[in-house]
Amino acid sequence: MFNNIILKRNALISLIFVTQVVALSVFFLSLGYIELNFAVLLLSIVSIAFLISLSYTLGLIVFLSEFVLLFIFLIIIKYPPKYLLSYFILGCVLGFRLAEERRSNSKKANAISLEMESVQEKINESQNQYLGLVKINEALEKKIFRFTSLRKFAEEIIANLNLEELLEIISSSGVEIMGKGDVCLIYLYDRDKDSLYLANSYLVSPRVKIRAKAGDPTDYWVFRQRKRLLIVDILRDFRFDAEEIFSYGREFRSLISAPISSRGRFLGLIRMDSTQPEEFNVDDLRLLDFIANLSAVAIDNAFLFKRMEELATHDSLTELYLRREFIKLVEEQLSRREKEIFGFLMLDIDDFKNCNDTYGHLAGDLVLKNISRVIKAHLVENEFACRYGGEEFLVFIRGGNKQQLVDRAELIRKAIQGSSIRVRRQLINITVSVGLAVYPDDVQEVAQLLELADSRLYKAKTLGKNRLVYE
Ligand code: GH3
Ligand code: MG
Ligand code: MG
Repeated sequence: MFNNIILKRNALISLIFVTQVVALSVFFLSLGYIELNFAVLLLSIVSIAFLISLSYTLGLIVFLSEFVLLFIFLIIIKYPPKYLLSYFILGCVLGFRLAEERRSNSKKANAISLEMESVQEKINESQNQYLGLVKINEALEKKIFRFTSLRKFAEEIIANLNLEELLEIISSSGVEIMGKGDVCLIYLYDRDKDSLYLANSYLVSPRVKIRAKAGDPTDYWVFRQRKRLLIVDILRDFRFDAEEIFSYGREFRSLISAPISSRGRFLGLIRMDSTQPEEFNVDDLRLLDFIANLSAVAIDNAFLFKRMEELATHDSLTELYLRREFIKLVEEQLSRREKEIFGFLMLDIDDFKNCNDTYGHLAGDLVLKNISRVIKAHLVENEFACRYGGEEFLVFIRGGNKQQLVDRAELIRKAIQGSSIRVRRQLINITVSVGLAVYPDDVQEVAQLLELADSRLYKAKTLGKNRLVYE
Protein backbone atom coordinates (compact mmCIF):
# COMPACT_ATOMS: atom_id res chain seq x y z
CA MET A 1 0.00 0.00 0.00
CA PHE A 2 2.84 2.37 0.95
CA ASN A 3 4.70 1.33 -2.21
CA ASN A 4 1.60 1.99 -4.24
CA ILE A 5 1.33 5.58 -2.98
CA ILE A 6 5.00 6.25 -3.79
CA LEU A 7 4.50 4.76 -7.27
CA LYS A 8 1.51 6.99 -7.95
CA ARG A 9 3.38 10.07 -6.75
CA ASN A 10 6.39 9.23 -8.93
CA ALA A 11 4.09 8.77 -11.91
CA LEU A 12 2.53 12.19 -11.36
CA ILE A 13 5.90 13.93 -11.07
CA SER A 14 7.17 12.15 -14.20
CA LEU A 15 4.00 13.08 -16.07
CA ILE A 16 4.36 16.77 -15.15
CA PHE A 17 8.03 16.64 -16.12
CA VAL A 18 7.28 15.02 -19.49
CA THR A 19 4.46 17.51 -20.19
CA GLN A 20 6.84 20.38 -19.46
CA VAL A 21 9.55 18.92 -21.73
CA VAL A 22 6.97 18.36 -24.53
CA ALA A 23 5.57 21.90 -24.15
CA LEU A 24 9.07 23.45 -24.11
CA SER A 25 10.27 21.38 -27.09
CA VAL A 26 7.22 22.36 -29.10
CA PHE A 27 7.61 25.99 -28.02
CA PHE A 28 11.33 26.18 -28.86
CA LEU A 29 10.75 24.25 -32.07
CA SER A 30 8.05 26.68 -33.22
CA LEU A 31 10.36 29.59 -32.51
CA GLY A 32 13.12 27.83 -34.41
CA TYR A 33 15.54 27.73 -31.42
CA ILE A 34 16.13 24.00 -31.72
CA GLU A 35 16.22 21.56 -34.57
CA LEU A 36 13.42 19.05 -35.04
CA ASN A 37 15.93 16.19 -34.74
CA PHE A 38 17.00 17.32 -31.31
CA ALA A 39 13.42 17.87 -30.11
CA VAL A 40 12.33 14.40 -31.20
CA LEU A 41 15.46 12.79 -29.65
CA LEU A 42 14.83 14.60 -26.39
CA LEU A 43 11.22 13.50 -26.35
CA SER A 44 12.14 9.89 -27.18
CA ILE A 45 14.72 9.72 -24.34
CA VAL A 46 12.31 11.22 -21.83
CA SER A 47 9.54 8.88 -22.94
CA ILE A 48 11.77 5.80 -22.77
CA ALA A 49 12.98 6.84 -19.33
CA PHE A 50 9.39 7.26 -18.35
CA LEU A 51 8.58 3.89 -19.85
CA ILE A 52 11.33 2.26 -17.82
CA SER A 53 10.69 4.07 -14.58
CA LEU A 54 6.95 3.47 -14.56
CA SER A 55 4.75 0.57 -15.36
CA TYR A 56 4.91 -0.79 -18.85
CA THR A 57 1.32 0.11 -19.83
CA LEU A 58 1.31 3.61 -18.37
CA GLY A 59 4.68 4.44 -19.97
CA LEU A 60 3.48 3.19 -23.33
CA ILE A 61 0.30 5.28 -23.18
CA VAL A 62 2.29 8.40 -22.29
CA PHE A 63 4.86 7.65 -25.00
CA LEU A 64 2.22 7.15 -27.72
CA SER A 65 0.16 10.17 -26.70
CA GLU A 66 3.28 12.40 -26.85
CA PHE A 67 3.99 11.35 -30.39
CA VAL A 68 0.37 11.73 -31.43
CA LEU A 69 0.39 15.29 -30.03
CA LEU A 70 3.73 16.07 -31.72
CA PHE A 71 2.57 14.53 -34.97
CA ILE A 72 -0.63 16.64 -35.00
CA PHE A 73 1.41 19.70 -34.16
CA LEU A 74 3.95 19.05 -36.93
CA ILE A 75 1.18 18.52 -39.44
CA ILE A 76 -0.29 21.88 -38.34
CA ILE A 77 3.07 23.66 -38.80
CA LYS A 78 3.69 21.64 -41.97
CA TYR A 79 6.90 19.90 -41.07
CA PRO A 80 7.62 16.72 -42.98
CA PRO A 81 6.96 13.85 -40.60
CA LYS A 82 9.84 11.63 -41.85
CA TYR A 83 12.18 12.51 -38.97
CA LEU A 84 9.51 12.00 -36.46
CA LEU A 85 8.50 8.65 -37.88
CA SER A 86 12.03 7.27 -37.82
CA TYR A 87 12.55 8.37 -34.18
CA PHE A 88 9.15 7.08 -33.31
CA ILE A 89 9.99 3.62 -34.68
CA LEU A 90 13.37 3.67 -32.96
CA GLY A 91 11.74 4.76 -29.72
CA CYS A 92 9.15 2.00 -30.03
CA VAL A 93 11.74 -0.72 -30.66
CA LEU A 94 13.91 0.47 -27.81
CA GLY A 95 10.93 0.93 -25.54
CA PHE A 96 9.61 -2.56 -26.26
CA ARG A 97 13.04 -4.12 -25.79
CA LEU A 98 13.53 -2.40 -22.50
CA ALA A 99 10.01 -3.17 -21.38
CA GLU A 100 10.55 -6.83 -22.29
CA GLU A 101 13.80 -6.82 -20.37
CA ARG A 102 12.06 -5.28 -17.41
CA ARG A 103 9.27 -7.78 -17.62
CA SER A 104 11.65 -10.76 -17.73
CA ASN A 105 13.65 -9.26 -14.88
CA SER A 106 10.54 -8.87 -12.84
CA LYS A 107 9.64 -12.50 -13.67
CA LYS A 108 13.09 -13.55 -12.48
CA ALA A 109 12.69 -11.42 -9.37
CA ASN A 110 9.34 -13.11 -8.76
CA ALA A 111 10.91 -16.53 -9.20
CA ILE A 112 13.75 -15.57 -6.83
CA SER A 113 11.32 -14.22 -4.28
CA LEU A 114 9.27 -17.43 -4.56
CA GLU A 115 12.47 -19.39 -4.10
CA MET A 116 13.34 -17.25 -1.09
CA GLU A 117 9.89 -17.80 0.36
CA SER A 118 10.25 -21.56 0.01
CA VAL A 119 13.74 -21.38 1.58
CA GLN A 120 12.28 -19.31 4.43
CA GLU A 121 9.54 -21.90 4.82
CA LYS A 122 12.16 -24.63 5.01
CA ILE A 123 14.10 -22.60 7.59
CA ASN A 124 10.93 -22.18 9.64
CA GLU A 125 10.19 -25.88 9.34
CA SER A 126 13.72 -26.77 10.42
CA GLN A 127 13.45 -24.35 13.31
CA ASN A 128 10.20 -25.97 14.42
CA GLN A 129 11.79 -29.39 14.11
CA TYR A 130 14.76 -28.19 16.16
CA LEU A 131 12.47 -26.81 18.87
CA GLY A 132 10.57 -30.11 18.86
CA LEU A 133 13.84 -32.01 19.23
CA VAL A 134 14.92 -29.74 22.08
CA LYS A 135 11.65 -30.51 23.84
CA ILE A 136 12.00 -34.25 23.22
CA ASN A 137 15.56 -34.04 24.50
CA GLU A 138 14.45 -32.25 27.65
CA ALA A 139 11.69 -34.82 28.22
CA LEU A 140 14.18 -37.66 27.66
CA GLU A 141 16.68 -36.11 30.07
CA LYS A 142 13.91 -35.81 32.66
CA LYS A 143 12.94 -39.45 32.08
CA ILE A 144 16.56 -40.60 32.33
CA PHE A 145 16.95 -38.61 35.57
CA ARG A 146 13.78 -40.15 36.96
CA PHE A 147 14.84 -43.61 35.86
CA THR A 148 18.34 -43.40 37.39
CA SER A 149 16.90 -41.84 40.56
CA LEU A 150 14.34 -44.63 40.78
CA ARG A 151 17.04 -47.26 40.34
CA LYS A 152 19.16 -45.65 43.06
CA PHE A 153 16.06 -45.37 45.24
CA ALA A 154 15.17 -49.05 44.74
CA GLU A 155 18.74 -50.13 45.59
CA GLU A 156 18.75 -47.98 48.71
CA ILE A 157 15.44 -49.14 50.12
CA ILE A 158 15.52 -52.80 49.23
CA ALA A 159 18.48 -53.53 51.51
CA ASN A 160 17.21 -51.46 54.42
CA LEU A 161 15.23 -53.21 57.13
CA ASN A 162 15.05 -50.30 59.55
CA LEU A 163 11.55 -48.85 59.21
CA GLU A 164 12.40 -45.32 60.39
CA GLU A 165 15.39 -45.03 58.07
CA LEU A 166 13.36 -46.47 55.24
CA LEU A 167 10.54 -43.95 55.59
CA GLU A 168 13.11 -41.15 55.73
CA ILE A 169 14.61 -42.29 52.40
CA ILE A 170 11.20 -42.75 50.77
CA SER A 171 9.87 -39.29 51.64
CA SER A 172 13.04 -37.40 50.69
CA SER A 173 13.51 -39.41 47.47
CA GLY A 174 9.85 -38.79 46.60
CA VAL A 175 10.45 -35.03 46.44
CA GLU A 176 13.82 -35.47 44.70
CA ILE A 177 12.56 -37.80 41.99
CA MET A 178 9.37 -35.83 41.39
CA GLY A 179 11.23 -32.52 41.33
CA LYS A 180 8.15 -30.65 42.48
CA GLY A 181 5.72 -30.34 45.39
CA ASP A 182 6.05 -28.75 48.84
CA VAL A 183 5.76 -31.83 51.06
CA CYS A 184 5.97 -35.60 50.91
CA LEU A 185 4.02 -37.33 53.66
CA ILE A 186 3.84 -41.01 54.58
CA TYR A 187 0.84 -42.15 56.58
CA LEU A 188 0.86 -45.71 57.90
CA TYR A 189 -2.14 -47.78 58.88
CA ASP A 190 -2.63 -48.67 62.54
CA ARG A 191 -4.51 -51.97 62.47
CA ASP A 192 -5.51 -51.83 66.15
CA LYS A 193 -7.06 -48.38 65.90
CA ASP A 194 -8.20 -48.79 62.28
CA SER A 195 -6.79 -45.36 61.53
CA LEU A 196 -3.86 -43.61 59.88
CA TYR A 197 -0.91 -41.96 61.58
CA LEU A 198 1.77 -39.68 60.19
CA ALA A 199 4.88 -41.86 60.11
CA ASN A 200 7.23 -39.56 58.20
CA SER A 201 7.25 -36.22 56.45
CA TYR A 202 9.69 -34.43 54.17
CA LEU A 203 9.12 -30.68 54.04
CA VAL A 204 10.68 -28.60 51.28
CA SER A 205 10.17 -25.48 53.38
CA PRO A 206 10.91 -25.94 57.11
CA ARG A 207 8.21 -23.39 57.93
CA VAL A 208 5.45 -25.79 56.93
CA LYS A 209 3.75 -27.53 59.87
CA ILE A 210 1.86 -30.78 59.49
CA ARG A 211 -0.95 -30.77 62.01
CA ALA A 212 -3.05 -33.56 60.51
CA LYS A 213 -1.21 -36.31 62.42
CA ALA A 214 -4.01 -38.75 61.62
CA GLY A 215 -4.56 -37.59 58.04
CA ASP A 216 -7.25 -35.47 56.40
CA PRO A 217 -10.30 -36.50 54.27
CA THR A 218 -8.15 -36.91 51.13
CA ASP A 219 -5.99 -39.47 52.98
CA TYR A 220 -9.08 -41.34 54.18
CA TRP A 221 -10.39 -41.29 50.60
CA VAL A 222 -7.24 -43.14 49.46
CA PHE A 223 -7.46 -45.44 52.49
CA ARG A 224 -11.13 -46.35 51.97
CA GLN A 225 -11.05 -46.52 48.17
CA ARG A 226 -7.61 -48.15 48.02
CA LYS A 227 -7.07 -46.01 44.91
CA ARG A 228 -4.56 -43.40 43.87
CA LEU A 229 -5.76 -39.82 43.89
CA LEU A 230 -4.99 -36.74 41.76
CA ILE A 231 -6.37 -33.34 42.75
CA VAL A 232 -5.54 -30.73 40.10
CA ASP A 233 -7.07 -27.90 42.10
CA ILE A 234 -8.86 -28.54 45.39
CA LEU A 235 -11.00 -25.41 44.93
CA ARG A 236 -12.48 -26.91 41.75
CA ASP A 237 -12.67 -30.56 42.86
CA PHE A 238 -16.28 -31.57 43.48
CA ARG A 239 -15.24 -34.64 45.54
CA PHE A 240 -13.80 -32.63 48.43
CA ASP A 241 -14.85 -29.68 50.53
CA ALA A 242 -11.76 -27.44 50.45
CA GLU A 243 -12.75 -25.53 53.57
CA GLU A 244 -13.15 -28.72 55.57
CA ILE A 245 -9.76 -29.97 54.38
CA PHE A 246 -8.07 -26.63 55.14
CA SER A 247 -9.46 -26.86 58.68
CA TYR A 248 -6.98 -29.71 59.23
CA GLY A 249 -4.30 -27.05 59.57
CA ARG A 250 -2.74 -26.56 56.14
CA GLU A 251 -3.87 -25.12 52.84
CA PHE A 252 -2.82 -26.72 49.57
CA ARG A 253 -4.18 -26.56 46.02
CA SER A 254 -2.96 -29.64 44.17
CA LEU A 255 -2.18 -33.16 45.41
CA ILE A 256 -1.15 -36.67 44.38
CA SER A 257 -1.55 -39.63 46.69
CA ALA A 258 -1.02 -43.38 46.23
CA PRO A 259 -1.82 -46.34 48.51
CA ILE A 260 1.06 -48.49 49.76
CA SER A 261 -0.16 -52.08 49.66
CA SER A 262 1.71 -55.36 49.87
CA ARG A 263 0.43 -58.91 49.60
CA GLY A 264 -3.11 -57.52 49.38
CA ARG A 265 -2.79 -55.62 52.65
CA PHE A 266 -3.07 -51.85 52.95
CA LEU A 267 0.05 -50.60 54.77
CA GLY A 268 -0.43 -46.85 54.32
CA LEU A 269 -0.11 -44.16 51.71
CA ILE A 270 2.37 -41.70 50.27
CA ARG A 271 1.22 -38.25 49.30
CA MET A 272 2.67 -35.05 47.89
CA ASP A 273 0.96 -31.70 47.71
CA SER A 274 1.62 -28.14 46.65
CA THR A 275 0.23 -24.68 47.31
CA GLN A 276 0.17 -24.18 43.51
CA PRO A 277 -2.82 -25.42 41.50
CA GLU A 278 -2.13 -27.76 38.55
CA GLU A 279 1.30 -28.66 39.93
CA PHE A 280 0.83 -32.38 39.30
CA ASN A 281 -0.39 -34.36 36.30
CA VAL A 282 -1.30 -37.97 35.50
CA ASP A 283 2.35 -38.83 34.74
CA ASP A 284 3.39 -37.62 38.21
CA LEU A 285 0.65 -39.71 39.79
CA ARG A 286 1.85 -42.77 37.86
CA LEU A 287 5.40 -42.13 39.09
CA LEU A 288 4.23 -41.75 42.69
CA ASP A 289 2.31 -45.00 42.35
CA PHE A 290 5.50 -46.68 41.15
CA ILE A 291 7.40 -45.26 44.15
CA ALA A 292 4.58 -46.51 46.42
CA ASN A 293 4.79 -50.02 44.94
CA LEU A 294 8.57 -50.17 45.38
CA SER A 295 8.22 -48.82 48.91
CA ALA A 296 5.47 -51.31 49.78
CA VAL A 297 7.78 -54.31 49.44
CA ALA A 298 10.52 -52.63 51.49
CA ILE A 299 8.12 -51.42 54.20
CA ASP A 300 6.52 -54.86 54.40
CA ASN A 301 9.97 -56.44 54.82
CA ALA A 302 10.86 -53.90 57.53
CA PHE A 303 7.58 -54.67 59.33
CA LEU A 304 8.28 -58.40 59.14
CA PHE A 305 11.82 -57.89 60.39
CA LYS A 306 10.58 -55.75 63.28
CA ARG A 307 7.98 -58.39 64.10
CA MET A 308 10.63 -61.12 64.01
CA GLU A 309 12.87 -59.09 66.28
CA GLU A 310 9.96 -58.49 68.63
CA LEU A 311 9.06 -62.17 68.67
CA ALA A 312 12.66 -63.04 69.55
CA THR A 313 12.62 -60.70 72.54
CA HIS A 314 8.92 -60.25 73.42
CA ASP A 315 6.03 -62.45 74.42
CA SER A 316 3.46 -62.42 71.63
CA LEU A 317 0.37 -62.37 73.89
CA THR A 318 1.33 -59.71 76.41
CA GLU A 319 4.06 -57.96 74.36
CA LEU A 320 6.23 -57.91 77.50
CA TYR A 321 9.89 -58.96 77.36
CA LEU A 322 10.79 -62.62 77.43
CA ARG A 323 12.77 -63.77 80.45
CA ARG A 324 16.20 -63.92 78.73
CA GLU A 325 15.92 -60.41 77.20
CA PHE A 326 14.68 -59.03 80.52
CA ILE A 327 17.67 -60.42 82.47
CA LYS A 328 20.02 -58.97 79.83
CA LEU A 329 18.49 -55.49 80.14
CA VAL A 330 18.44 -55.63 83.94
CA GLU A 331 22.10 -56.65 84.16
CA GLU A 332 22.98 -53.77 81.87
CA GLN A 333 21.23 -51.38 84.24
CA LEU A 334 22.89 -52.84 87.34
CA SER A 335 26.36 -52.53 85.81
CA ARG A 336 25.72 -48.95 84.68
CA ARG A 337 24.14 -47.54 87.84
CA GLU A 338 26.02 -49.01 90.77
CA LYS A 339 24.81 -46.54 93.33
CA GLU A 340 21.09 -46.79 92.59
CA ILE A 341 18.42 -48.84 94.29
CA PHE A 342 16.30 -51.24 92.26
CA GLY A 343 13.27 -53.34 93.00
CA PHE A 344 12.37 -56.76 91.60
CA LEU A 345 8.65 -57.53 91.72
CA MET A 346 7.38 -61.06 91.21
CA LEU A 347 3.61 -61.06 90.53
CA ASP A 348 1.26 -64.04 90.28
CA ILE A 349 -2.43 -63.84 89.44
CA ASP A 350 -4.66 -65.02 92.27
CA ASP A 351 -6.91 -67.99 91.51
CA PHE A 352 -6.31 -67.71 87.83
CA LYS A 353 -7.23 -71.31 87.29
CA ASN A 354 -10.75 -70.44 88.51
CA CYS A 355 -10.90 -67.52 86.10
CA ASN A 356 -10.00 -69.81 83.21
CA ASP A 357 -12.46 -72.45 84.36
CA THR A 358 -15.31 -69.95 84.79
CA TYR A 359 -14.85 -67.67 81.77
CA GLY A 360 -12.74 -69.75 79.44
CA HIS A 361 -9.18 -69.64 78.27
CA LEU A 362 -9.74 -66.71 75.88
CA ALA A 363 -11.05 -64.57 78.73
CA GLY A 364 -7.98 -65.64 80.69
CA ASP A 365 -5.80 -64.37 77.84
CA LEU A 366 -7.61 -61.04 77.96
CA VAL A 367 -6.87 -60.84 81.70
CA LEU A 368 -3.17 -61.46 81.02
CA LYS A 369 -3.15 -58.73 78.36
CA ASN A 370 -4.93 -56.29 80.64
CA ILE A 371 -2.53 -56.85 83.53
CA SER A 372 0.43 -56.35 81.17
CA ARG A 373 -1.07 -53.07 79.96
CA VAL A 374 -1.52 -51.83 83.55
CA ILE A 375 2.05 -52.79 84.52
CA LYS A 376 3.52 -51.10 81.43
CA ALA A 377 1.55 -47.93 82.10
CA HIS A 378 3.34 -47.66 85.48
CA LEU A 379 6.88 -47.95 84.17
CA VAL A 380 9.25 -45.10 83.38
CA GLU A 381 12.45 -45.02 81.35
CA ASN A 382 14.85 -47.92 81.94
CA GLU A 383 12.27 -49.96 83.80
CA PHE A 384 11.13 -53.27 82.33
CA ALA A 385 8.53 -55.97 82.74
CA CYS A 386 8.57 -59.56 81.57
CA ARG A 387 6.22 -62.48 81.39
CA TYR A 388 8.11 -64.80 83.68
CA GLY A 389 5.89 -67.83 83.33
CA GLY A 390 2.28 -68.68 82.41
CA GLU A 391 0.58 -66.13 84.65
CA GLU A 392 3.61 -64.80 86.48
CA PHE A 393 5.22 -61.44 85.83
CA LEU A 394 8.58 -60.01 86.76
CA VAL A 395 9.01 -56.25 87.00
CA PHE A 396 12.16 -54.18 87.39
CA ILE A 397 11.71 -50.71 88.89
CA ARG A 398 14.03 -47.93 90.08
CA GLY A 399 13.72 -45.75 93.15
CA GLY A 400 15.54 -43.51 95.62
CA ASN A 401 15.06 -45.85 98.60
CA LYS A 402 13.31 -49.05 99.61
CA GLN A 403 10.18 -47.29 100.82
CA GLN A 404 9.70 -45.62 97.46
CA LEU A 405 9.98 -49.03 95.78
CA VAL A 406 7.45 -50.50 98.23
CA ASP A 407 5.06 -47.63 97.47
CA ARG A 408 5.37 -48.07 93.73
CA ALA A 409 4.91 -51.84 93.99
CA GLU A 410 1.78 -51.29 96.05
CA LEU A 411 0.55 -48.75 93.47
CA ILE A 412 0.93 -51.30 90.67
CA ARG A 413 -0.79 -54.03 92.66
CA LYS A 414 -3.73 -51.76 93.49
CA ALA A 415 -3.99 -50.54 89.89
CA ILE A 416 -4.32 -54.16 88.74
CA GLN A 417 -6.97 -54.81 91.36
CA GLY A 418 -8.83 -51.68 90.31
CA SER A 419 -8.88 -52.35 86.58
CA SER A 420 -11.78 -54.55 85.66
CA ILE A 421 -12.35 -56.17 82.29
CA ARG A 422 -15.67 -57.05 80.66
CA VAL A 423 -16.13 -60.71 79.79
CA ARG A 424 -19.49 -62.12 78.62
CA ARG A 425 -21.27 -58.96 79.78
CA GLN A 426 -19.72 -59.34 83.21
CA LEU A 427 -17.06 -57.24 84.86
CA ILE A 428 -14.23 -59.29 86.39
CA ASN A 429 -11.78 -57.91 88.91
CA ILE A 430 -8.50 -59.72 89.16
CA THR A 431 -6.02 -59.50 91.99
CA VAL A 432 -2.36 -60.38 92.19
CA SER A 433 0.04 -61.35 94.94
CA VAL A 434 3.42 -59.65 94.86
CA GLY A 435 6.84 -60.41 96.30
CA LEU A 436 9.42 -57.56 96.31
CA ALA A 437 13.21 -57.93 96.61
CA VAL A 438 15.40 -54.83 96.71
CA TYR A 439 18.89 -54.36 95.28
CA PRO A 440 21.30 -53.84 96.98
CA ASP A 441 19.46 -53.77 100.35
CA ASP A 442 18.34 -57.41 100.32
CA VAL A 443 20.84 -59.21 98.06
CA GLN A 444 23.07 -58.21 95.17
CA GLU A 445 22.95 -61.09 92.69
CA VAL A 446 20.18 -61.09 90.12
CA ALA A 447 19.51 -64.82 90.56
CA GLN A 448 19.27 -64.41 94.33
CA LEU A 449 17.03 -61.34 93.94
CA LEU A 450 14.64 -63.35 91.79
CA GLU A 451 14.65 -66.21 94.26
CA LEU A 452 13.94 -63.83 97.12
CA ALA A 453 11.11 -62.10 95.24
CA ASP A 454 9.64 -65.51 94.43
CA SER A 455 9.76 -66.68 98.05
CA ARG A 456 8.11 -63.44 99.20
CA LEU A 457 5.42 -63.97 96.56
CA TYR A 458 4.85 -67.43 97.96
CA LYS A 459 4.58 -65.86 101.39
CA ALA A 460 1.99 -63.39 100.05
CA LYS A 461 -0.05 -66.32 98.74
CA THR A 462 0.09 -68.11 102.02
CA LEU A 463 -0.86 -64.97 103.88
CA GLY A 464 -4.13 -64.82 101.95
CA LYS A 465 -3.22 -63.47 98.45
CA ASN A 466 -3.94 -59.98 97.01
CA ARG A 467 -1.06 -58.43 98.91
CA LEU A 468 2.55 -57.28 98.71
CA VAL A 469 5.31 -58.87 100.79
CA TYR A 470 8.67 -57.12 100.88
CA GLU A 471 10.30 -58.52 104.00
P1 GH3 B 1 -2.92 -69.11 92.87
O1 GH3 B 1 -3.76 -68.02 93.41
O2 GH3 B 1 -2.43 -70.00 93.93
O3 GH3 B 1 -1.86 -68.64 91.98
O4 GH3 B 1 -3.94 -69.94 92.04
P2 GH3 B 1 -3.94 -70.17 90.52
O5 GH3 B 1 -5.24 -70.70 90.10
O6 GH3 B 1 -3.53 -68.93 89.81
O7 GH3 B 1 -2.89 -71.29 90.42
P3 GH3 B 1 -1.72 -71.42 89.47
O8 GH3 B 1 -0.87 -70.23 89.59
O9 GH3 B 1 -1.06 -72.72 89.70
O10 GH3 B 1 -2.47 -71.49 88.07
C1 GH3 B 1 -1.86 -71.29 86.85
C2 GH3 B 1 -2.94 -71.24 85.82
O11 GH3 B 1 -2.63 -70.24 84.85
C3 GH3 B 1 -3.04 -72.53 85.12
C4 GH3 B 1 -3.14 -72.15 83.65
O12 GH3 B 1 -4.32 -72.64 83.10
C5 GH3 B 1 -3.17 -70.68 83.64
N1 GH3 B 1 -2.39 -70.17 82.58
C6 GH3 B 1 -1.05 -70.20 82.41
N2 GH3 B 1 -0.72 -69.61 81.24
C7 GH3 B 1 -1.88 -69.19 80.65
C8 GH3 B 1 -2.19 -68.54 79.44
O13 GH3 B 1 -1.33 -68.20 78.62
N3 GH3 B 1 -3.49 -68.24 79.20
C9 GH3 B 1 -4.47 -68.60 80.05
N4 GH3 B 1 -5.72 -68.30 79.77
N5 GH3 B 1 -4.20 -69.25 81.19
C10 GH3 B 1 -2.93 -69.53 81.50
MG1 MG C 1 1.29 -69.37 89.11
MG1 MG D 1 -1.77 -67.90 90.12
